[in-house]
Order: sequence, then C-alpha cells, then structure tokens
Amino acid sequence: MELKKNYKFWFTPGSQTLYGEECLREVAEHSAVIVDSLNKSGKLPYEVVLKPTLIDSATIRRTMNDANTDDECAGIITWMHTFSPAKSWILGLKELRKPLLHLHTQFYKEIPYDTIDMDYMNTHQSAHGDREFGHMVTRMGKNRKVVAGHWSDEETQRRIGEWMRSAVGVIESSHIRVLRVADNMRDVAVTEGDKVEAQLKFGWQIDAYNVTDIAEYVYQVKDAEAEELTEEYYDKYDILLEGRDEAEFRAHVKEQARIEIGFERFMNELDYQAIVTHFGMLAGLKQLPGLAIQRLMEKGYGFGAEGDWKTAAMVRLMKLMTAGKPDAKGTSFMEDYTYSLVPGKDGILQAHMLEVCPSIASAKPTIKVCPLSMGNREDPARLVFTAKEGHGIAASLVDLGTRFRLIINDVDCLPLEKPMPKLPVASAFWRPEPSLITGAEAWILAGGAHHTAFTYDLTAEQLGDWAEDMGIEVVYINKDTTIHSLKNELKWNSVYYR
Ligand code: MN
Repeated sequence: MELKKNYKFWFTPGSQTLYGEECLREVAEHSAVIVDSLNKSGKLPYEVVLKPTLIDSATIRRTMNDANTDDECAGIITWMHTFSPAKSWILGLKELRKPLLHLHTQFYKEIPYDTIDMDYMNTHQSAHGDREFGHMVTRMGKNRKVVAGHWSDEETQRRIGEWMRSAVGVIESSHIRVLRVADNMRDVAVTEGDKVEAQLKFGWQIDAYNVTDIAEYVYQVKDAEAEELTEEYYDKYDILLEGRDEAEFRAHVKEQARIEIGFERFMNELDYQAIVTHFGMLAGLKQLPGLAIQRLMEKGYGFGAEGDWKTAAMVRLMKLMTAGKPDAKGTSFMEDYTYSLVPGKDGILQAHMLEVCPSIASAKPTIKVCPLSMGNREDPARLVFTAKEGHGIAASLVDLGTRFRLIINDVDCLPLEKPMPKLPVASAFWRPEPSLITGAEAWILAGGAHHTAFTYDLTAEQLGDWAEDMGIEVVYINKDTTIHSLKNELKWNSVYYR
C-alpha cells in the first residue's frame, strides 16, 4: 500500500514594487537560494517549489487558486521578504483552501554593521513586512502555522518539515474512507459520534456494510492463496504452539490469512482505507480478525475495535502523516487496560483483545492461538510482542455532542518490569506525562476514551496543528499540565467552541 505521495509545497515570497527592479531581482534570487537550501537540507519530507514573487492582488488570488486545484500541492509557504501591503493578500487568502505556513525569516543572519544603509534596510525588512502580513491573517481569522528563525538553522528546517506532515494530514484527511462492518458496541458511549459532522469537519466518509458482505470475500479466498500467506507468516514470525496440536494451530492461523486476504480485497475494491470490527458482531466469520487486522494495520490501514470508527480514522490519518519517515517506530490502535500504581514503577499497560499493530513491536512478533474469553468463536491467532521503548503520543478524538475534542497526551513507553508469559496479546507499558496520576486525572476530566491512536512518530504539536486546521478543539496533556490549569482551559474552550 503506497502511503507516501509525491506532495509539493509552494514557496511564494511576497514583495512590492516600491523599491524598484533591483530589489525585486534580489527577492527572487534570495528566495531561490532559500528553496534550494531547504530542499538540500535533508530535513524536509516533501519538496519545496519556488513560485514567482507575489506582489499584486490579482496574481496572489490566482496563485492561491492554482494551489487549491493542484492535487500535488499540499500547502503554501510564504514569507514577506520586503514589505508586501497586506490588503493585496485579502482575496487570495480568503480563497486559499490549502494549509498555510508563514515562514518568518530573513535572508541574512547578521546585521552588516559596517555597510548597512537604507537600501539594505528596505530590502531586508521581513521583521516589518511579516508583521503586516501576519496582522492580516490574524484579522481574517485564518488558521496558519508561524515558524520564525533563520532558514539555514536546523531547528527552523526541522519545524518546517514537521509542519509539512501536519499539512499532508489535512490534505489526506478528506480522502479517508472508513468501512464499518459492525456497529459500535452496544451501550458504549465514547466510541460513538456524529458521522455527518465527522465528514464536515474532517472529510471522512464512514460507511456501514453487513458483516456477511465482507465474510463472503473471506469464503472466496482460494485455499492456495491462504496457504501461501500462512507460509509467509511462518517465515516472518515465531510460532509458539504452547502444547497445541501443530496441524490444528496452523489451521487457525490459516483462517486469519483468509481474513486478511478477503478483507483487503473487499477494502481495495470498495476503496476503504480504515476498518472497524466488533467481537460481538462476526456473522459468518470463524474467528475475530486478530492477526489479520494486525497485518492490515502494519500495511497502513486504519483500525478501531468495537465499531470505533473515530479511532480507525485517526490511526489511518497518523499512518499517512508519518509515511516514509526514515526512523519511524510505528503507529497503532491501542487501549488503556490495566495499571501499575506502584510508585516509581507506575504506568498503564496498553493492549487490546488482539489488535495491536506490529509496527510498534520491539522484536520479532510471535504467533499464538488462544481462546478469546469473549464471544463464541474459534480461538483466534494473533501476534504477540511488546512495544518499543521511547516517547510517543496517544490521541483520543471524542464527540462531546456539540463538538469534537482531540486529546493528545505525551507518553513514555517504558521497559516491562517482568515478562508476562500468560498474557496472550501484544502490549506496551507507558507512563503518561506529567505523571500517571495527573495524566490520568487530566485525561478523565477531558473526557478521553479508553481507545487511542498511538504513534512514536509524530509530536503533539504536529497532530495539534492538524486539528487546528480542522477547526476542532485540542487539549494537550504534557509535562506542563496541572489540573487547575486544565480545568480552566476546558471551561474556556467550552465558551469558544460552541
Ligand atoms: Mn476495546
């Protein structure tokens, strides 16, 4: 599954004619140097393309509309090299529908004390021009990212690169289609939500099918196909029989191979990139999809259990936003399961019945076949592993009735104190910031779910920037969180977002 597309970002410097042709020539030259240097920095996941300097209202408007209709353009990066009167930008900004980054930089890093004159001042006045531009964007209430810093600084480049992934999330969000082959689990509140509003806000299309429709695709998988994939599983993963009959074990694994092939075929034919299942709504499926769903998630599909379409879409979105990241550590559906409340060893054991993505595994996963202890189907095959150590974010999108809220918690995945030989599911153990106690209290006060979309490969800022562009509330829980300030923030937000 191709996750990373060939997106480009347009670099559109702003200026005006007041300072003459010589100045405009310099603006264009400097912009070319900056774009070239950004592209060569190795810090940006996508290419920056230089556009002509924008001066007048008609050209600005046309350029912004060209960006709107260019499928490869994922956003605009702009910078006012000189002074670009902001009224010229009103119509263009009004019509721009792509993500916007305002890069507040300056061509030269140092003030040339010995030679500086008014020509220099007029040419290099982004300190002045960017304020004029910023004022207009603020006045228009238009969302944008502002990154200040010299364009050659690694930190500036890193922040531009990180924003690019947020912007790609904005563009990709409206292409996400979630397949519901089960409804939300009966009586469960937090996995529910307004699907019409989700399409309005995020662009997600969320459709339901009968489980029997997809089960039919599973039945039609040829035995040779299932056998071939089972062989691949046996090559790729360790097998832990735990006393089970070898042939019976393999037959259970092969059932998951059938499900993987059938589900993927169904999703591809009908153009879905995320899926929900429910252990209580399996119709003719012999097993709860476990290993099959884990494999699909690893390929890049989104997933939510018990009908949780919001988390399924978030997992898909985060897989797209992190696509092609060179040092990626993984992204998964996850669930808060059980605590260690021992001081110094405190944290949350994360797992699910089965469906944790092997992209986060710290070592080669093991296939096990065990009873599910819920529902009434065959013992499903599943991949068992523990997650990598390191920093990540856990995100929960909840529907508060009048609005969506995205809660993002910085978490640290820690080594397990001891192995858990009797736990037949994949797991992670993390400590939320600022601490287990405050983190859990804050999460509960914010109304966060037990299901999360988790990744090591995005920062809270990146996901928050995506949410801001979607126009929804974002609540960060991190090292700076105190319960007092969080409660006030939630109250203030309730006034803003209504
Ligand atoms: Mn669950």
